[in-house]
Amino acid sequence: MALKVVEEWFNACAGCEVSILNIGENLVDLLSELEFVHMPFLIDHKYYGQTGEGTQVEIPEADVAIVSGGVRTEEQKEILQKIREKCKTLVALGTCAINGGIPAMANMWKREEILNAIYSSLPSEVPAWLDRVYAIDEIAKVDIYIPGCPPHPQNINEAINALLKGETWSLPERSVCDTCPTRREKKASSGTTKRFFENLTFSPEESLDTMRCVMEQGFICLGPVTRAGCRGDSDAPRCIRARVGCRGCFGPIRKGAKPMVDMMSAWSSIGLSPQGVPDRRALLNRFIGAHNNLRPLPKR
Ligand code: SF4
Ligand code: SF4
Ligand code: SF4
Repeated sequence: MALKVVEEWFNACAGCEVSILNIGENLVDLLSELEFVHMPFLIDHKYYGQTGEGTQVEIPEADVAIVSGGVRTEEQKEILQKIREKCKTLVALGTCAINGGIPAMANMWKREEILNAIYSSLPSEVPAWLDRVYAIDEIAKVDIYIPGCPPHPQNINEAINALLKGETWSLPERSVCDTCPTRREKKASSGTTKRFFENLTFSPEESLDTMRCVMEQGFICLGPVTRAGCRGDSDAPRCIRARVGCRGCFGPIRKGAKPMVDMMSAWSSIGLSPQGVPDRRALLNRFIGAHNNLRPLPKR
């Protein structure tokens, strides 16, 4: 019998859903074993039923719910709670769902400040907001986490295959650096950090293992504090393959880790001063503003 699946998005950009599509040919095999009973990405019937007869939020029962996006509104919170009631397994898909993602940078400001500054001149009403952006596990118990912004299609494929076998799935707790082939000398080439728009030193004709580590070249690379998983079957993490530093989109290596503290020590360990890094709080928590990692600062 096919696995019944509910898929829902909240404070999200649809990149996670595109990653499901990017599973590619393997998705064709998977589709014969999955029955999507709810997926707003295709058609959204949770408010009015299939034919417009419904008057309240309706989520069908399912074996698995896959949810992308964090939770910003009262309505999203209610829908998530209903999904948790109706679905046996809850999968958090993508960094917005797991850690708040980029939308949770809004947690650096009070709700009222944002509403007044951005939405006060809108002609229609804004749906009721919660006090901040929440990760979904702050509202409902999550069973499986598939991190990434967006997640790697291979990881989604593996997780769905595990679910089909009645198993759980998780990425190993290791860092992007653990999967990076660049050459390391355990010291920085200069003592100060460089700006993103300066060029790395590398030869495009030569393989990545001849290129010096991005961080040791003085650029910001969050590989030491970011969970590995974006490499898939390729030879290097996605951004390193494109010859830029890791921005931290897979989130912390383990739950409860404090990337800000750990990154300071990674910089010091190779003799790099974080002093010149602009807006360190936002930069090092860019994808993980939920769980109270980012909060409004008191006015000076
Ligand atoms: S995790 Fe990234 S790709 Fe997924 S919804 Fe959030 S912003 Fe979009
Ligand atoms: S800091 Fe960046 S470039 Fe250096 S090993 Fe880690 S991921 Fe690779
Ligand atoms: S290298 Fe870092 S920012 Fe780039 S895709 Fe991988 S985890 Fe995300």
